[in-house]
Amino acid sequence: MTFRIAVGALRRRSRDAETFERPSEAAASAPSLRGSLQVRHVDAGSCNGCELELASAFSPVYDVERYGVRLVASPRHADALIVTGPVTHNLREPLLKTLAAMPEPRLVISLGDCARDCGEFRGAYGVAGSVEDIVPVDAHIAGCPPRPSEIVNVLRTFTGQ
Ligand code: SF4
Repeated sequence: MTFRIAVGALRRRSRDAETFERPSEAAASAPSLRGSLQVRHVDAGSCNGCELELASAFSPVYDVERYGVRLVASPRHADALIVTGPVTHNLREPLLKTLAAMPEPRLVISLGDCARDCGEFRGAYGVAGSVEDIVPVDAHIAGCPPRPSEIVNVLRTFTGQ
């Protein structure tokens, strides 16, 4: 019963959340990123809700790959870094190392309310801060968790497809 109430509250928050914040004009018009975007994902301390929706965005239903977005296994192959969750003390250093390994130009996209302001985990003993507290952020996708359609919309503004 408690679990059902918690899930219901999460769904309501997601529906009520603002759709997304548009990436900066400069980031969206970066010529070398138009057409295709290679994305590396780092879970910096998420509850896994954002990961489920991110996976859905790449599923056959939403299929963001048709707009030129691909997930890559190495930060050395990535144009953009998507970070989920609040940044925990344990993941702070790996996040910094991942960003340092990426070639330029590169983008950082924070995904989910926890990434933006620590959300449900604000003040928790294991949390070092929001993503923006640790690395510069170019765009944010709001929601707890964001809907796959919103994730697709934001990524399309970068590829221009
Ligand atoms: S924003 Fe919501 S779904 Fe995403 S990590 Fe935080 S609590 Fe989980």
